[in-house]
Amino acid sequence: MSTKVVNVQINIDAGFCSFCGACIAVCPTHVGSKNLDYIPEKSADKPIVKDSQKCEKCRHTLCMQICPQLNIPAKLFNTSSYIYQEAYYSRSKMQEALSRAQDGGTATTLLLTALKARFVDYVIILKKDEEWYPRPMVTQSEADIIDAASSKYVFSPILATLYDIIDKIDVGRIAVVGIPCQLRALENISQLEFKHNNIIAFKIGLFCMHGFSRDRMESILKELNITFQDVVKMNIKKGKLWFTLKDGRILDYPLKKAEKVLRPACRQCPELFSPYANVNIGSIAAEENWNSLLIMDSRGKELVEKAIDMGLLEVKPMDSSGIETINKYVNKKVGDALKYREQYTKEFQNILLITPTKRGRKLSDILEYRSRRSIYLSPL
Ligand SMILES: Cc1cc2nc3c(=O)[nH]c(=O)nc-3n(C[C@H](O)[C@H](O)[C@H](O)COP(=O)(O)OP(=O)(O)OC[C@H]3O[C@@H](n4cnc5c(N)ncnc54)[C@H](O)[C@@H]3O)c2cc1C
Ligand code: SF4
Ligand code: SF4
Ligand code: SF4
Repeated sequence: MSTKVVNVQINIDAGFCSFCGACIAVCPTHVGSKNLDYIPEKSADKPIVKDSQKCEKCRHTLCMQICPQLNIPAKLFNTSSYIYQEAYYSRSKMQEALSRAQDGGTATTLLLTALKARFVDYVIILKKDEEWYPRPMVTQSEADIIDAASSKYVFSPILATLYDIIDKIDVGRIAVVGIPCQLRALENISQLEFKHNNIIAFKIGLFCMHGFSRDRMESILKELNITFQDVVKMNIKKGKLWFTLKDGRILDYPLKKAEKVLRPACRQCPELFSPYANVNIGSIAAEENWNSLLIMDSRGKELVEKAIDMGLLEVKPMDSSGIETINKYVNKKVGDALKYREQYTKEFQNILLITPTKRGRKLSDILEYRSRRSIYLSPL
């Protein structure tokens, strides 16, 4: 039986949304009224489709075409996709970055390097507020970048900021830091001949085994008798979730228990790190306060070399045990994803393998959208 598919609401409802925010950025009905939106206090871990009637008019189904949870490329379920050019352990030499960072501060340092070296004009970062609601932003400020350091393990719509880039500021070159699903969405957007694709100068990937919905994280905190407001830092290591609290206490929660409730989006996600990134950064295999750093291509190498030349970053080659450990996690992530993928494609074939229909768009409609918001170089 075929389901009438209008927009991303169908996969959001089935749990196939990791809240990357890309659909919010590309929805062409933004001008005049935003049809897809992010209202932290109302919908903290998924976008809101406001009016599906408008989607009938839209006919582009752009939201579905760029969603990283639909039509995941088959090659990503093959471990041979996860090749890199060079592997290092790395650590920031900038005291302020290191003291605020999740691990070795490499991500913060590479963003700062890209700005200082004028490789980019803006960066996309993710801050949070007191309640851990995600606050993605586009910035040129070094203070903002340092303030945004550390990982937010709750789903966060960083790509929604592309909307701001398009409409509100004079666009320059941009560096984006993100987890694999976010960079997968960016790759999908690049297939759409999005006018501003060439402004993304650097993609700095973060390793990711899984993210958590805000609801799930809230229930974990409740079990520990604390709230988001009590927490200053979260970490995942040694098989546990760690919460550093404002009062100085550090509490932990078994990761296996936390993983019992994951969104299908994460269960089917094959990428430990992103093949689409210029560099990927994690903590797997690295010592405390160091990162594992994978250079994926010549652009990534150029950025890392610049950071070293400027005296901002130190690196040492990754040893064979580090490489083995990363391979082990790549195999695990792909293997687990394949199992779930098989199960889900039987159950949700009409959603996951959907070919968004190009439903009889009229040239006049396309021109209308293009003139109202000239973000597309060519109609789909
Ligand atoms: C959801 C999630 C899951 C992860 N899982 C793993 C894992 O299983 N194994 C592993 O080795 N590493 C994992 N990481 C990466 C790890 O937590 C560190 O981000 C990484 O080691 C870089 O450390 P750093 O000290 O260089 O980062 P920092 O210098 O502290 O910089 C972190 C940067 O990441 C950005 N950021 C933070 N949270 C998010 C987010 N949710 N989405 C997009 N950008 C964000 C911030 O804007 C900041 O610029 C995960 C990260 C996230 C966000
Ligand atoms: S995964 Fe991203 S693109 Fe897909 S529905 Fe969620 S926020 Fe939108
Ligand atoms: S179908 Fe079009 S109008 Fe509707 S949410 Fe998707 S992109 Fe926006
Ligand atoms: S496991 Fe994949 S889908 Fe889930 S948060 Fe990480 S990168 Fe995104």
